[in-house]
Amino acid sequence: MQLIIHKGSQEIGGTCIQLSQDGTTILLDLGLPLREESKPVDLSALNPDAIFVSHPHQDHYGLIVDTDSSIPIYMSELGKRLIDAARIFSHQAPLSNDFHFFKPWISLDIGPFKITPYLMDHSSPDAFAFLVEADSKRLFYTGDLRAHGRKGVLFERLIENPPPDIDVLLMEGTMLGRTSDDFPTESAVEGKIVEVIKGQRNTSFVICSSQNIDRLVSVFRACKRTDKFLVVDVYAAWVLEQMKLVSDRVPNMFWDEVKVIVSNSQYQVVKANPEFFGDFQNEIFKPEHRIKPHEIMAAPADFVQAIRLSGARFIEPHLGDQPVNVIYSQWLGYLDGDETQYGASQVNRLRDDPRVNFVYAHTTGHALLEDLKRLVASLEPKHIIPIHTDCPGQFADHFENVKVCEDKQEYDIGNGRIQKVPKTRP
Ligand SMILES: [Zn+2]
Repeated sequence: MQLIIHKGSQEIGGTCIQLSQDGTTILLDLGLPLREESKPVDLSALNPDAIFVSHPHQDHYGLIVDTDSSIPIYMSELGKRLIDAARIFSHQAPLSNDFHFFKPWISLDIGPFKITPYLMDHSSPDAFAFLVEADSKRLFYTGDLRAHGRKGVLFERLIENPPPDIDVLLMEGTMLGRTSDDFPTESAVEGKIVEVIKGQRNTSFVICSSQNIDRLVSVFRACKRTDKFLVVDVYAAWVLEQMKLVSDRVPNMFWDEVKVIVSNSQYQVVKANPEFFGDFQNEIFKPEHRIKPHEIMAAPADFVQAIRLSGARFIEPHLGDQPVNVIYSQWLGYLDGDETQYGASQVNRLRDDPRVNFVYAHTTGHALLEDLKRLVASLEPKHIIPIHTDCPGQFADHFENVKVCEDKQEYDIGNGRIQKVPKTRP
């Protein structure tokens, strides 16, 4: 089996791993880089037989938009729907690649490859690791994963019953070299939100990603525990609708405690795409689902609004005598630096506003070092290759048999060794 990491051996984001065997080539992920100076993978030289997408985060799927639409793309159906949700609300057409939907733990054959998706815990729903088998070699790619979210049980099940005889573990190392003020678990985040909102005299806003379903569930549960309504925008309401595909335990606007606030700009998106949204376009206007701004103004302490960073402008009208809670519940990095994230400057202003009670409550979507150690102890791989990390060099401080790869370099995975393939063969 031959391996080329086109991107991701030395950085977080833009992951693209190529595996080849007997003339068949597959890609695991095809993401957009997160670093501004990092160039996306050059697709012109790639002609894979299949592309597998681990989860619907841009840094793992972003480049499939630019691939030849005849190349089969394998991902989960929910993943595809979440990508389309993000696209349609940013005025882009849904993707029309040749999609094939896989299901957790059901293997697929692509030429000599057998690929098994493992459902994992991450800040995105439907995040998968892949077990790839070919030529009697077994490679396990973690994708992005963690053990401390709402689906942490998936991580525990994996390490209790690991796939045996792993030759190569391609393991994400996002948290290596990162220090964080994060909460230890998703339930700790929920606990903090409860503490902040329970005695509120004004309204609360939670700034988080609408696709971080674990977080929306945490906010919902905090609302439930304090007898408040969760208010979501039309985009989040649509995302929550999609979750019905995999779970009936994720709140949505049909639940009594969830309300939708309809802004004109989001309504215009729905109105322009009637076939895409179907019945949803009528449901959001039904009085049992919809809440209007003046209704929140009339009893602000009864509501907690989940908004995106770009929705920070909705906070302003609520500033008054009683403090507004602004719970910042995503990566603090979005507020730093050049404030390129839309809404960051507004939120930074609010941080210093005496009318605002600014609170940070977040936990990472990525595995902590101690959990990576448990993963390695369980899988006992012959080799570990760092991926999705800014600090590949630190792997050797914590793990045995680490092989740090170079982007774009071909390696041959043989019996008990990983060897560079010379660029010009003799
Ligand atoms: Zn991710």
